[in-house]
This record gives sequence, C-alpha cells and structure tokens, in this order.
Amino acid sequence: MVSFPPAPFSTERPWGARLSPAGAPDVRVVSRAGATVVALPNRYSVTYLLLAQSSVAVVDVGSCADVPRVMEALRWLGRTPSQVSVVVASHLHCDHVMGIDTLARKLGTPVAVGRAAFESIRGGPPLRYPDFRDALHLVGGWVYQGAPAPSRSDWPDGPRFGFPNAPNPFQAELLPLTDGARLSGLPGWTILETPGHADDAIALYNRRAGFLVTGDTVRNFLGGEWNPLQVDRASMQATIATLQDLPVHTVFPGHGPVLEGMGVLRGLKVVGPWEP
Ligand SMILES: [Zn+2]
Repeated sequence: MVSFPPAPFSTERPWGARLSPAGAPDVRVVSRAGATVVALPNRYSVTYLLLAQSSVAVVDVGSCADVPRVMEALRWLGRTPSQVSVVVASHLHCDHVMGIDTLARKLGTPVAVGRAAFESIRGGPPLRYPDFRDALHLVGGWVYQGAPAPSRSDWPDGPRFGFPNAPNPFQAELLPLTDGARLSGLPGWTILETPGHADDAIALYNRRAGFLVTGDTVRNFLGGEWNPLQVDRASMQATIATLQDLPVHTVFPGHGPVLEGMGVLRGLKVVGPWEP
C-alpha cells in the first residue's frame, strides 16, 4: 500500500463541473499491483503522474498555469524533478498540451507524442480536428470542465500548440511513441494507439494493474463515456472494440473523475449526437 500525506492543494470546484453528473474530479492516488497513478485535475484537463520506483512520467499538461502545480505535486509525492523521465502528450489538443513544452524544458526531459503526432510535426500528414458538426460536444465539454477562462500564462505561445494547423514547435527533445512501445523507466506500461477522437490519440496501459490512462478517448462528465468528439468514427469504433477486450480495472480519463471496477470499459456510455 502506498501512502502519502494529504495533498497540499485543494481541488478546484468550478461552477460548470456542478452541471456535470460525474462531478468535479479529485486529486487521487491509485495504486495496484506495484503501479501508482496520481490524478491531478488541472485547468483544462486532468494531468496524470505515473510513478515507478525511481522514475515518473507526466501525462498531459494543458496549460502553463498547471506547471507550478505539477512541481508542487512532485514535492508532495517526495519525488525530485530529475526523476521525471518523460512528459507524454496523449494527443495534440490544446487543452492537453499547451503547458507540456514549458514543463519539459523546466525538467530537462523529452516530450513523447504518438507516432501520428510525431510524423505530422515533422512534415507528414496533418492531423485532423473535429468539425463544426461537433460544436455541441465541444461547448458541452468546455462547460462541464468548468468553463475555464484562457490563462494569461499561455499567451503568446499556447496557441502554437494543439490547434488546427498549429506548428507544435516543441523545443524539448521530441520522441515518437508507437503501438506496443514501452515507457523507459516505467516498468509495466505500454503504449496503445487509439485513433478516433484524434488521429494521434494514444493510451497508456498497465496490464498487471489493469490501469488505462486514456487521454480523451474516454471522458467522464456523464458517469463515464466514450468521447463523442471524433475525427474518425470508424477508427473510434475499432479503438472501442480493441480496448473493450482488455482486462481493465481503472480508467483514468482525460476529463472528469477516475472510473473504477472490473469491466468498466464495457459499461461506458455512447453519447448521442444531440447530447453535449
Ligand atoms: Zn482532445
């Protein structure tokens, strides 16, 4: 059993999250079968810290305003900045990546992105973004997230990351993560390519613990649902079928509280086009 002192910061309870049936996410430490994941709800999305004996991976930092909170969380967890081996982007959407390069450069670590994201940054096929028909999901998600106002700390560089046609000019060393890749220093963690919500979406899977860090493939605003915001519905269906076959006990979604229970993925809702 892993135990830490109480978190030194409170969870914000933005008004919009009160409209969300799932409620606002809490700071959580979840340990199972030697793996530990810390959920750190942040401004635009949830940041996750994957803890191993002497390494830490940070997944998603949506805003530069989140960077001091991640540093504070490391202190709280008794970890040094030099233990962070990588900062991972679950996909290149602004609400997950605007603070990533700033954090990685502060820590002196590389940034790891999905293969499709890496290729697009290097001049390959551009990533697709949801179109106007998904505006209801986009607005609904923003409200449920707490209707966060843009942070001044993300200006002027933030809009260069995670928007359509943005150059994503990472200054930290950039690493590609392909399907089946392992995270160095984080035993038990494997990368799964999970296209559908985004072309470059990846999940981080720990089979022994039954942990799945999904990025935006899963969100939890309505009690746990497949993200209705999708750039490729056929890819999303394939991703859902693949993930549902995995033994997963705990889902760490891109937004909203952690979801727990064996077979949790089979119980996720499919959101209709008329629902936010
Ligand atoms: Zn997204």
